[in-house]
Amino acid sequence: MYKIMTAGPTQVRKNVLEARSLPFTNPDIDLEFYEFYKETCDLLSKLLHSSSPSFILGGEGILGLEAACASLTEPGDKVLVIDNGIFGKGFADFIKLYGGDPVLYTSDYHKPVDLDDLKGFLEENSDFKYATVVHCDTPSGVINDVHKICPLLKSYNILTVVDSVAGMFGEYVNFDEGQFDILCGGSQKALSCPPGLTMITVSEDAITSMKSRKAPIASYYANILNYIDYYDVKWFPYTMPISDIKGFRVALENVAKEKDIVERHKRIAQATRKALVASGLELYLESGYSNNVTVLNVPEGIDSDDILADLKDSHNIMISGCFDILAGKVLRIGHMGENANVADMEAVLSALGETMKKLGFPVKADMAAVFRENL
Ligand SMILES: *Cc1c(COP(=O)(O)O)cnc(C)c1O
Repeated sequence: MYKIMTAGPTQVRKNVLEARSLPFTNPDIDLEFYEFYKETCDLLSKLLHSSSPSFILGGEGILGLEAACASLTEPGDKVLVIDNGIFGKGFADFIKLYGGDPVLYTSDYHKPVDLDDLKGFLEENSDFKYATVVHCDTPSGVINDVHKICPLLKSYNILTVVDSVAGMFGEYVNFDEGQFDILCGGSQKALSCPPGLTMITVSEDAITSMKSRKAPIASYYANILNYIDYYDVKWFPYTMPISDIKGFRVALENVAKEKDIVERHKRIAQATRKALVASGLELYLESGYSNNVTVLNVPEGIDSDDILADLKDSHNIMISGCFDILAGKVLRIGHMGENANVADMEAVLSALGETMKKLGFPVKADMAAVFRENL
C-alpha cells in the first residue's frame, strides 16, 4: 500500500474504518437510522455554521455538484459560471446538460477571483438565476473568497452554488455568513473518509427556487427535492449506504473534537510552501494558496510521470499529477485531513527531494528541514 498524499482521497483514521465494518440495520425501515442520519446531518450543519439543513447523498462529490445544477436549472436559465480553475469551468457542462445557458466569467487561473473585477462585471451583467463558484479549486490549489463573493452575488438576487468539496474542514467555512444557497462537500477530502459520499447544505431560498420551478427536475437521483422531507415522511429516495454513513459520522466527530482544525491545515500548508520554494521548485499560484493542497510546477526537462513513478517505486508515496489543461504541468501534494501531519509531510518532502535529485533537478535545500523550521 502506498502512503496516499494525494489531493483526495486522503488517508483515513482507524476509528472511521472500524465504524464502517460494524453490523448494521435496514436503513429503509429502521426508524433508528432516521434519527442517526438526522443527527449526523445536524452535526454537519453545525460544523459548517449553518442554520440550514444538510443532506448526505450516496455518491461521490461530483454528485453534489450535479444535483445542485440539476435541481436549480430550468431549460433556458442563464447561469453565471465563475471560472478561475478546472472545476470552476467544469460546472458549465452540468448546466448545459440540464438545458441551462452557462455564461463564463473567466479570470487568471493563477489567482483568486478579484472581487472588484467581479463587481464591475455584475454591474453590466446580472440577470442570472444562480452562479457557481469553487472554494478550493484543487487542480491549481487556488482558494476563492466565497464568503465575500456569495454575498455580492446575493445582492444581485443571484443564488449561489459553492463547491467546497476540497475546502471544508481545512479552510474556514461559514454557511450563514457566506449566504450560500447550496454548499457541496465530499467525504474523501479534508473530512478523511473513504470516497463515496457527497454532502449538500441547502438554503431556504434554494428550496423555494426548486419548488417554484415550472419544468420538473430532469433527474431522480440528483433531485434535491427528493431528499428534503425524508425525516417527516420517513422515506429516502433509495437505500442509504449505511456503513459509509457510520464511518462518516465518526470522521465528523473527529473533526468536531479538534480544537482548531483550520489552523493545523494552515500551519502545514505554509511550511510546505516554504520548503518547496527553498529547494528551488516553483509554486503554480501567484496568490490565493489553499491550506489543503500545494501545487508546484513540473521543472522544464523533467517528465511529471517520472517523478510520480519514482516517488511510488523508491519511496512508496503517491502524490497527484493533474488533468485537463494542467496535465503533465503540475504536481499536487494533498495535505488535508489526516494527511496534514508533520511526519507524513516530512516523509513526502524528503522523498520528493531525493526523487528530484535523481532526475537531475538541482535541489537547493533539505525540504524536510526547512518544513520543520517553519512550522
Ligand atoms: C474532489 C473534488 C470534487 C469531487 O470529485 P470526485 O471525483 O467526485 O471526488 C469536486 N470539486 C472539487 C474542487 C474537488 O476537489
